[in-house]
Amino acid sequence: MDNASLVSIVIPVYNEHENLKELIRRCVDSCDLLKRDYEIILIDDGSRDDSAKMITEAAEKHSGKIVGVLLNRNYGQHAAIMAGFAEVRGAIAVTLDADLQNPPEEIPKLVKEIDEGADVVGTIRVPRCDSIFRRMASSVVNKAARRATGVDMHDYGCMLRAYKRHVIDAMLSCEERSTFIPVLANSFARKTAEIEVKHAARDAGESKYSLWRLINLQFDLLTSMTTFPLRILSVVGCIISALGVGFGILLLVLRIVNGPEWAVDGVFTMFSILFLFIGAQFIGMGLLGEYIGRIYHDVRARPRYFIEKIVGRK
Ligand code: UDP
Ligand code: MG
Repeated sequence: MDNASLVSIVIPVYNEHENLKELIRRCVDSCDLLKRDYEIILIDDGSRDDSAKMITEAAEKHSGKIVGVLLNRNYGQHAAIMAGFAEVRGAIAVTLDADLQNPPEEIPKLVKEIDEGADVVGTIRVPRCDSIFRRMASSVVNKAARRATGVDMHDYGCMLRAYKRHVIDAMLSCEERSTFIPVLANSFARKTAEIEVKHAARDAGESKYSLWRLINLQFDLLTSMTTFPLRILSVVGCIISALGVGFGILLLVLRIVNGPEWAVDGVFTMFSILFLFIGAQFIGMGLLGEYIGRIYHDVRARPRYFIEKIVGRK
């Protein structure tokens, strides 16, 4: 097989037996249009329905074209995709959801962008077919992600994405456990592109993300980007302490101006001292935060750098 042009499609599957047949059919059809070798890697993320069996059957039927990776239990979408990445043999990997919200017919467009030189291709879903709550949440998150990564992408939530081989290798070399793939990928990309794709409503099964899982995912995204929130503690502490000092000085001045009756037996003074201590506590926590942030960086053990390629060496 010619790996230099091989395209690998990576699809995480969790309780999607209603969608699998259609998914496989549509993926095979649109990959056939690519006119190059491809492999479809289906990862069963510990489904409790027939998904694993269906994946196994499909892999036996289209041996070589469809690869099944069966995980023993549910690890979550991003972990499942990483498991799929470990099996990617192609020069290009495309990820998409199994619920057919991302139409497989868009795959050739993404592959074309990669061929034209992008390392990572992101997508914008137009029109987005999700509940208003999901749309609002993701607009906030996308704004934050744009700020923090400095990469101008509009839709970090859409998993219909394409990656070049070296970006996959770089991601696989990251040891961390809570991964948010789009952000991680962008940190290894030299050139990113973004295209618009169609989005469909889920027509079979239901979303696998409950509110709690969504919140968890957003924290994965946040913490994978930055440890800045830890620093906020110190900033808040400094502000509160400064207010305490200011308040104390103000009290002193007013006491001198207005005489002893004004001071109500030092009740206000108590407040100003309290402010100082609360501020000091926050600063202490912020300091701990700075250490934790550094420990977090080291524990994550992301590679210090990643070499894309070396040129001019005999
Ligand atoms: N998924 C998974 N493991 C999970 C949750 C989801 O592999 O624990 C897969 C799921 O089968 C689907 C994709 O991730 O292919 C996106 O999930 P879903 O459509 O439920 O998310 P939403 O579209 O609501 O964001
Ligand atoms: Mg979905």
